[in-house]
Amino acid sequence: MHDCLIIGGGVIGFSLAYELSSHGARVRVIDQSKVAREASWAGAGILPPANLSTAVHPLDQLRGLSHYLHPQWAQALHKETGIDTGFRRCGGIYLARTNGEAAALTAYANLLRSEEIKVEELPLGDVVDYEAALGPLVDSGDLVKAFRVPGECQLRNPHHLQALIAACKRRHVCIDEQVSLGQLILTRDRLVGLETSCGTMKADRFCIASGAWSGKLLKQFDLSCGIMPVRGQLVMFRCDKPPFQHVLNEGSRYLVPRDDGRVLVGSTEDEVGFDKSTEQRVLEELADFACGITPALRDAQVERTWAGLRPGSFDGFPYLGAIPGLSNVFVAAGHFRSGLFLSTGTAVVMSQLIRQQNPQIDLRPFRVGRG
Ligand SMILES: Cc1cc2nc3c(=O)[nH]c(=O)nc-3n(C[C@H](O)[C@H](O)[C@H](O)COP(=O)(O)OP(=O)(O)OC[C@H]3O[C@@H](n4cnc5c(N)ncnc54)[C@H](O)[C@@H]3O)c2cc1C
Repeated sequence: MHDCLIIGGGVIGFSLAYELSSHGARVRVIDQSKVAREASWAGAGILPPANLSTAVHPLDQLRGLSHYLHPQWAQALHKETGIDTGFRRCGGIYLARTNGEAAALTAYANLLRSEEIKVEELPLGDVVDYEAALGPLVDSGDLVKAFRVPGECQLRNPHHLQALIAACKRRHVCIDEQVSLGQLILTRDRLVGLETSCGTMKADRFCIASGAWSGKLLKQFDLSCGIMPVRGQLVMFRCDKPPFQHVLNEGSRYLVPRDDGRVLVGSTEDEVGFDKSTEQRVLEELADFACGITPALRDAQVERTWAGLRPGSFDGFPYLGAIPGLSNVFVAAGHFRSGLFLSTGTAVVMSQLIRQQNPQIDLRPFRVGRG
């Protein structure tokens, strides 16, 4: 008998297991396939800046809390497991090549400033002082505006997942892979257990953290929700050494430099259901985009390409809370493009809720059953 059974072994499920087990809870994580192989593995690991002390809206508070916790978690996980999660305060540079992009960027910079987050507009001539690799873009005359956001960070998500899993195992979290769910064993207001391919699993509380698949699972509880898969495709280049230090952003696309010379280029938003295939044309467009920003990548090898399914939500907010009418079933899903970023804050507030404490953030905007 476990205190909490978490359905889904991605960053949300394991962050929650890590947090709950640090409070002494006996936790089990089950996954329908191998753990940590879906969106949480596929993502780029960009952690945008946020500020807990100025945040007013609960979503901004969740962002602020997550931003505050990430360096602490990276340090604690490294200490506990010896695994470097790749958390780096690398900074981000935001680029605009059209007037429309420049207007959107200026608005974003103003928003960050209103939250007292540091943003510097870079005179175009100064851009190369921060990233020499952007020299050809500046010289081409195509660059219209550039901002630098020093507080942007990154996480090497596969390493972060490895560290979380190792820490969970040290805390005796039970992990079961390749588990298919069958019937729910329900009383009037409680879930007692799950029939699964590995037998009946019982627990005091349950949490659905099944990413893009959460909507399917919630249907079994007669609940429709706006979580849907949104595919993102990525291209990874291999260079001898990192060609730049900052995350380079333009619109919804980005280049993320890893310490070992790899550069991730993403991404797309494709509504194609649960299809994780990649499209050659789209990958070529991403590669062209990357080479347009830093032509040095033309000489680099494309090492790997892949796609992952983000858990999109209809209003852009995650679902965090209890299933209406059931006192012991919770949901933590639907984090769309920010699940790696919001995972630390999500784990803390969901752990508080599941342990029957008052969550430190008002979770009403994230309530389950809102649509
Ligand atoms: C290309 C791409 C780039 C991204 N970049 C970033 C980024 O830079 N920064 C950021 O913060 N976020 C990013 N994201 C988003 C982020 O990856 C996701 O929001 C996050 O990983 C969601 O985590 P999760 O644990 O909810 O889902 P997942 O990682 O998908 O995990 C869900 C798990 O649940 C399991 N599961 C599903 N159904 C069942 C079931 N019935 N029974 C048991 N197990 C089940 C699945 O097998 C899976 O292991 C990106 C995503 C993609 C695809």
